[in-house]
Amino acid sequence: MADFKDIIGQEQIIHHMQNAIRQKKMSHAYLLCGEAGSGKRLLAEAFAKTVLCEEGGIEACGKCKSCKQTESGNHPDFRVVVREKATLGVKEIREQVASDVQIKPYSSPYKIYWIDEAEKMTEEAQNALLKTIEEPPEYAIFLLSVSRQELLLQTVLSRCVLLPLHPVATERIKKFLMEKKGVPDYLAHSAASFSGGLVGRAVQYAESETFIEQRKDVLHLVKYIDEMTMAEVMENVKLFAGKKESAGEYLELILLWYRDVLLYKATKKVDGLLFSDELEAVAMQAGKRSFENLQGIVEALEQVKQRLKANVNFENALELLLLYMKEV
Ligand SMILES: [Zn+2]
Repeated sequence: MADFKDIIGQEQIIHHMQNAIRQKKMSHAYLLCGEAGSGKRLLAEAFAKTVLCEEGGIEACGKCKSCKQTESGNHPDFRVVVREKATLGVKEIREQVASDVQIKPYSSPYKIYWIDEAEKMTEEAQNALLKTIEEPPEYAIFLLSVSRQELLLQTVLSRCVLLPLHPVATERIKKFLMEKKGVPDYLAHSAASFSGGLVGRAVQYAESETFIEQRKDVLHLVKYIDEMTMAEVMENVKLFAGKKESAGEYLELILLWYRDVLLYKATKKVDGLLFSDELEAVAMQAGKRSFENLQGIVEALEQVKQRLKANVNFENALELLLLYMKEV
């Protein structure tokens, strides 16, 4: 379980939370908003662990009974709301929150509730929660996390302190992956670049065999397509079409490759390239391809993506795309 000091980025939120803890002026309801992989769970856990820590500092001590209990997921005053179905219903909110909150904390001055993916609450459930957070017992703190806050009722939103998570700079994520996770340089670079500033997603990429494989397949294709025979091109069509579940990720990677080539052709700058470890190949492609050709490829790629979504003639569109890529 992460402590505040282990979290990369999100300084504003951490600062806000630690200030509140220092002054013992925590709000009754917080809403963490951010995409999957942005760090909502880490922040919620670090906050709960610190608030419940017997030492009362702005970082959890990690040694007291309370810290040990939070770490093992057994703190009686840290209640994680469990969702067993696709939605979180009013029954669950009544049982796990509204009636439970009437019971005083067992061992700490506070009782913390965490509702992850709060947008999964039905409207009825949100209204039930609203009643509780409108008049909460003094010791109660509610932590909600969402990836899309517009799915919450305005009345619920207005009761919460909104804490939006922000993307973290690629360089920081790369450094973190290399130093704390032992990820090799080139992989740390790609994983960080493709993560869109989401540390959790970057870690997932760096540890995923599939991502490494996909990147290798795509690089092989874009680098060698000009030398391939028609038969080899068709083999590639089959290879990608056969992996339909991950076809979207392949297309995205191909698209990012050609964006790099376009960017390099236009600016001759290495900064901002996602495939900077393949600079020689990027530069070569930028040299021999025209802007029209690159634009054509990007358009063809968009079309294949559309067809993939609509589930029609995917293989044909893919074939056309690869032929476009081959024809310089
Ligand atoms: Zn402690």
